[in-house]
Amino acid sequence: MSDIIRKRQTKILATLGPASNTPEMIRKLFDCGVDAFRLNFSHGEHKDHQARVEMIRAIERETGRPIAIVADMQGPKLRVGKFKDGKIALSVGQRIRLDLDPTLGDETRVNLPHPEVINSMTIGSHILLDDGKVRMEIVERGDGFLIGEIKAGRTLSNNKGFNVPGVILPIAALTPKDRVDLEAALNMGVDWIAQSFVQKPDDIREAKKLIAGRAALMIKLEKPSALTYLDQMIALADAVMLARGDLGVEIPPEEVPVVQKRVVRAVRFAGKPIVVATQMLESMIESPSPTRAEANDVATAVFDGTDAVMLSAETAAGQYPLEAVQIMDRICQRVEKDDLYRSIMNADHPIARANDTSDAITIAADQVAKDIDASCIVTYTTSGGTALRAVRLRPPMRVVCMTQNMSTARRLSLSYGVLGLKIDTITTFGDAVKVAQTMIGQEKIAQKGDRFVMTAGVPFETPGSTNILRVAFVE
Ligand code: PEP
Repeated sequence: MSDIIRKRQTKILATLGPASNTPEMIRKLFDCGVDAFRLNFSHGEHKDHQARVEMIRAIERETGRPIAIVADMQGPKLRVGKFKDGKIALSVGQRIRLDLDPTLGDETRVNLPHPEVINSMTIGSHILLDDGKVRMEIVERGDGFLIGEIKAGRTLSNNKGFNVPGVILPIAALTPKDRVDLEAALNMGVDWIAQSFVQKPDDIREAKKLIAGRAALMIKLEKPSALTYLDQMIALADAVMLARGDLGVEIPPEEVPVVQKRVVRAVRFAGKPIVVATQMLESMIESPSPTRAEANDVATAVFDGTDAVMLSAETAAGQYPLEAVQIMDRICQRVEKDDLYRSIMNADHPIARANDTSDAITIAADQVAKDIDASCIVTYTTSGGTALRAVRLRPPMRVVCMTQNMSTARRLSLSYGVLGLKIDTITTFGDAVKVAQTMIGQEKIAQKGDRFVMTAGVPFETPGSTNILRVAFVE
């Protein structure tokens, strides 16, 4: 039993790192509003991630609230080699050779240890280095080398990352390091695997095969080619992260807001969780309050109808991790109280499939809950499907997901408005209603006498079969 009830529907996913490594700090982050934690496998050792998983599971036991853990795989991040002096100065118009020679580079040449990139680039294509701070156009190519002309940028240092926008690279989305990390993360019992740099549907199929149902799969949209296959990608994934850090380098900045609106809506309509990520409160790495533009960015994601907003370095390595969560929590709450927000959420719904019982019952449950001002919508579900279907409609009240499956409850902590409650196995709908009637009061979700709407698929254990709707009172 717990009395931790968030005052918002939008969830907060926060990344752990050196600034958030102790049980006390992780507990404070949770108390300030974090609903799910991200472990970034680009950094840190397995034993550090394992320790964090244990700290999070201890918080679950203390609070009775299921918490999702997302293990984010590094993916095939492209990096240049090293320089004799650690870095080089650049000037516009300068030409530099990019080749496979591992010896230390200088102003005239640099090691680019990625033959697949060298082979895929054509004259006129661009390489963006160091998050786009350096731009280079390919002006010549030969066997095992490229010549790039600097178009912008002043310096380049050891091992900086680079992006090749618009080029589909013949590389696997899971590197040997990812495969090792993936097994380790699954053995730690994480709930979600986040897959980086997916380019095509087969990348997702490959990851799903390796995961083999041991966790759910969140794909990170950060390559323009992934947007080309958006519908297929969404259909194959269990959730989507709009990874605006790399995506914002790969596509022009003016495209990012439009892509965000399109992707959030498409993923929401598909009934899967969408996470808007990266640079949301970036200045709070060093400052105790955000810029107005950052506050607006978080608010825009909420107005777009996202399931979750994410904090990266703000909570992993910043000086003000708790303040970042607190302000994010306040912005989400403020937007959700706004009449305009509610009218957008009430109006913009996926079209129900014709002659589909699950869709019809879910839409009816949403409507009844609004009409009678129900305290919450309660779903009884094994896979989480009934709860996901309910939150597609972005109801104003909490969606309680009663499930005997702890992994379902944990995964759903990322989803809009869902509060997962682990219960013992139930066999009849009548018993599920009885459990809900007492549990909702005990968990302080609603008061004795309040009405709630309950949906489920009977017989139980048949995924995708929402077919029953009932109004009941909290006892
Ligand atoms: C991003 O690029 O926005 C992102 C979340 O990925 P990374 O893990 O590289 O930060």
